Amino acid sequence: MATTQYKWQARGLQKALSHLAHARAYNALHKKYIDTGDRIAAATLLSTAAPGALAWVTFNDLSHKPVTLSRDDFRTAMRFSLGIDLPNLTVAAENQTACGHCGSSFPSAKHYQVHALVEQGGSAGGSMYGSHNIILKAVEKAAIDAGVAYSVGTTVQGRRNQIPDCRVGTIAGPGGTRHEKFADIVFPDMTACGYRAQRVYGDTTLRNVIGLHHNNLTVVHRAHSRPGGALQHAVAEKTKMYDEAMRGRLNEEVAILAIETGGRMHSQFHRLITAFARFKADKIAGPLPANARQGVAYNDSTDPAVKAHRAIYVRTKSSLMGRIQVARVKTIAERIMRITIPHPRCTRNEAVSH
Ligand SMILES: [Zn+2]
Repeated sequence: MATTQYKWQARGLQKALSHLAHARAYNALHKKYIDTGDRIAAATLLSTAAPGALAWVTFNDLSHKPVTLSRDDFRTAMRFSLGIDLPNLTVAAENQTACGHCGSSFPSAKHYQVHALVEQGGSAGGSMYGSHNIILKAVEKAAIDAGVAYSVGTTVQGRRNQIPDCRVGTIAGPGGTRHEKFADIVFPDMTACGYRAQRVYGDTTLRNVIGLHHNNLTVVHRAHSRPGGALQHAVAEKTKMYDEAMRGRLNEEVAILAIETGGRMHSQFHRLITAFARFKADKIAGPLPANARQGVAYNDSTDPAVKAHRAIYVRTKSSLMGRIQVARVKTIAERIMRITIPHPRCTRNEAVSH
């Protein structure tokens, strides 16, 4: 594969982007999308502006890269993030090229893009289920990096086997029958990471802020103007389900690891990454003195022990965040780039094994 030959030298662009992301230019772009009625682009852009959402841009600069982005991945992800149509999809819309999986064709580049992201069966770029597994894998790798204990089922032919350790409880299904609910991953000892509960179940979920309804593009939960709406909705849904499954149990909780396709991560996801980074910093530099731990003088302390801890914490946090964001943009870019490549119809199980 040629992908490793083209490692993106992102320094200049990164600088320009961090400037862009934090400056008025960014707001101006959002306003332009709103004014021109392009709420799809506005929603994607707003998600991209969330804390950590652009961590993939800088992560690719590090020598230590378990996941690399090809130049094509990078360019596609960048255009997607900024709400700009992809040239291959514009051409597909002009030519009415069929989706490589289901054969549908669409009137615009954005339709193709959304279709690529909501396609549940596998296209040549992968499926929704495949992307979910890739994000989960990145969470698993983050736990390994930080040295945090976890259990997760292995994925065989696209299906994760549900190990007893991840079993949360039972929930009511249709017709009133109860069925087992499994989390994606479990962290059995999170008090060491600052959680109140010892056992924390993780539920990974990748959410679109844009959908296709009867072939019409729709912005979900007013995502063009209400940042994080899609995530709040997902978390409310899942929290209800897990509350039912865990009824009456103490010392256990669920972390909904929700991330939007644009990159916004829910606060519970941020909390997990922060806890992992702090855990690693404690392990390497030793726990912080009590006053620093409470946030007093943490940022501007001259105490070398506090400074060392801070350095490891910041570096680890940005690396873990980068890892998850790279996984996200890589899977999204591949699905968008390859949506029109013919791909044999296959069963759900086979579809997610890619
Ligand atoms: Zn399709």
